[in-house]
Amino acid sequence: MSPTFESEFEDVLAAVPEEQFDRSRFVPSVGPLDADVMLVGEAPGEQEVEHEEPFVGSAGGRLNSALESIGVGRRDLYITNLVKVRPPENRDPRRAEIDAWWPVLEAEIERVDPTVIVTLGSFATRELLDTDENISDVHGETFELADHDVVPTYHPAATFYDESKKGEMEDDLKSVFGRV
Ligand code: URA
Repeated sequence: MSPTFESEFEDVLAAVPEEQFDRSRFVPSVGPLDADVMLVGEAPGEQEVEHEEPFVGSAGGRLNSALESIGVGRRDLYITNLVKVRPPENRDPRRAEIDAWWPVLEAEIERVDPTVIVTLGSFATRELLDTDENISDVHGETFELADHDVVPTYHPAATFYDESKKGEMEDDLKSVFGRV
């Protein structure tokens, strides 16, 4: 039987503080543990909680169509979030939530060992790259984190407010898949 997210990351999940681990709002990561590319979002929303999978709501639709436009199947990617529990009312994740879930993301990166990590939006980008830079200034560039390339791009939901970002997100993703 193939491992589940919960079995694969059992030890590090057990160390997440109880007050930050509301199981009714928890969404496990998906994708092959040997994926070349890891996508890191911000935190799950309502649809994601309902379907127990990251990026299956409207932002996920945007992401899927961007991937389809460049001929990439989402099932080949490892898809995770900075924070794995949905923040109430879809508010931004708080420092305590990010800190509580950080060791899980670190363990995922170590286990999957992707060639490229794509950070979707400013929260994941700021945390992984330890930067205050604006996503519009760094998207599409390549940074190094341990032995991984990190390529920030816009959060798919941000492309709803500014259509020009949709093409930029697709271009950023295309540059990633050109190298793996
Ligand atoms: N937005 C995210 O950042 N992650 C999801 O899983 C869904 C929407």
